[in-house]
Amino acid sequence: MICKICGNKFFIKRGFKELLKTNHEQNICNKCLDKYGISLSFQKIVLENYDVMIVSMFKRKEKIDYNLFYDEYSKIFISLMMKKGYHVILEDHLYLDDYKIEEIDGISKMLESNLIILCLTVSDYS
Ligand SMILES: [Zn+2]
Repeated sequence: MICKICGNKFFIKRGFKELLKTNHEQNICNKCLDKYGISLSFQKIVLENYDVMIVSMFKRKEKIDYNLFYDEYSKIFISLMMKKGYHVILEDHLYLDDYKIEEIDGISKMLESNLIILCLTVSDYS
């Protein structure tokens, strides 16, 4: 197979049981998975009336096609949706400054709810 990030050919070792599976497909080689793979991090911020939990999927912003991780993204999204008492908001690359936190605070007041923000990466001014 050809890795969709680095373009190199790679092979997946399969055991006898996996040989019979037809839907086993991997788009990214192990080297790229180690370098760019998902690294979930959680950060909780206390707002004026509610809390926001920021869930970021990657350590830093890279020049890769994040759509390659769509399956993992949707699984994480669905698991966050199950959390009671929270509204889930999706962001691309979240830059947390005072204005953004104020905006998030406003959204939590408008929705009268705690928030979870699922984003690809998060960076702040510190
Ligand atoms: Zn690769």
